[in-house]
Amino acid sequence: MIGQGATTNVYLTVDTELSSLHFRRHGVAGLEANFASSILGRTEAGDFGILYQMERLDAFGLKGIFFVDTLVALVAGQEMVDRIVRPILEAGHDVQLHAHAEWLGRSKSGPTDGRGGRNMADFPLEDQVRILDYGIERLLAAGAPMPVAFRAGNYGANDDTLRALARVGIACDTSYSPDYAGSVCGITLPRETTAPVLHAGVIEVPVSAIAGPSGGSRHAQITALSAQEMIAALAYAALNHQAAFTIVSHSFELLCRQRTRPNRIVVRRFDRLCEVIASSPRLRSATYADDPPRPEPAGEGVDWLPHSLARTLVRTGEQAVSNGLYGEQVAGMPVSAAAPAFTVRDRLIAPLQTLTPLQQIALDILMAV
Ligand SMILES: [Zn+2]
Repeated sequence: MIGQGATTNVYLTVDTELSSLHFRRHGVAGLEANFASSILGRTEAGDFGILYQMERLDAFGLKGIFFVDTLVALVAGQEMVDRIVRPILEAGHDVQLHAHAEWLGRSKSGPTDGRGGRNMADFPLEDQVRILDYGIERLLAAGAPMPVAFRAGNYGANDDTLRALARVGIACDTSYSPDYAGSVCGITLPRETTAPVLHAGVIEVPVSAIAGPSGGSRHAQITALSAQEMIAALAYAALNHQAAFTIVSHSFELLCRQRTRPNRIVVRRFDRLCEVIASSPRLRSATYADDPPRPEPAGEGVDWLPHSLARTLVRTGEQAVSNGLYGEQVAGMPVSAAAPAFTVRDRLIAPLQTLTPLQQIALDILMAV
């Protein structure tokens, strides 16, 4: 829990990886095309991959966290990792470790001697330590600093993954996603965990989520939630003083499913999300390296944006918003001192004729100082 007037750290994470499906179909001969599509997001309409995304993040003064799958070196060599990592470092964004176990069975010289598996959790603890060591070495060889955070490919981690991370000196994991808990994700946390918690020797930073219908959930991925849902979820996190909000994206997230052209809706959504994070005094663009998440006691901060967005936000937010925005004081400051935030809010709202009352309430919450 963070104090009154404090901010919610927003971790905007981008899993950065080549396509193993593309590799199955086209092999080594297709690696260049795989890199162009999966990493650069290349289409006839232009590039929408990590270079484009970093450009947009820079335009809003935000930091992205790029989880780079370095196990691709098993089929594409260190040079491929270098080509992915160096532009991220040069642009000043955060590089952390991602690992897709699918590559392991494709090289006898790898950390599991060619033994394959779909997920990290398919391997015993000692193997997972070796896989992580190999991944770290690839990042360091590309010039990245020692990673402080990890995400397993497909969210396919278990508690042994966390123990292995502790052994190799990586303090944070963000492989826990409630949508995959109990299936591919074997980390044994209560399903609704939203706050960073200490678990199996590391700080687990769950992927954020909103409640879905019938007790389900939907994780905070850029293609999975509408702009309205994402903004409402951020507003709810800020309103409830949640210390961390973790968003998932991919290097190819802004492309259509066939990866042949940009998905203009998602491209706009990415910009909109950046603008809201950059403009809100209640949110802060954070990285694991510079703003390490602080674990909360187990069972604290366990709260998703409930399924009925409108009813919940109206109920919990309206009073706070009206006190905050239209009372004599805003968080202890005279209204005049908080005026710049309102100008930003008005600028955000004004051009969007289609804003629903719910979106206005969510933006009001985010723009209140
Ligand atoms: Zn991945």
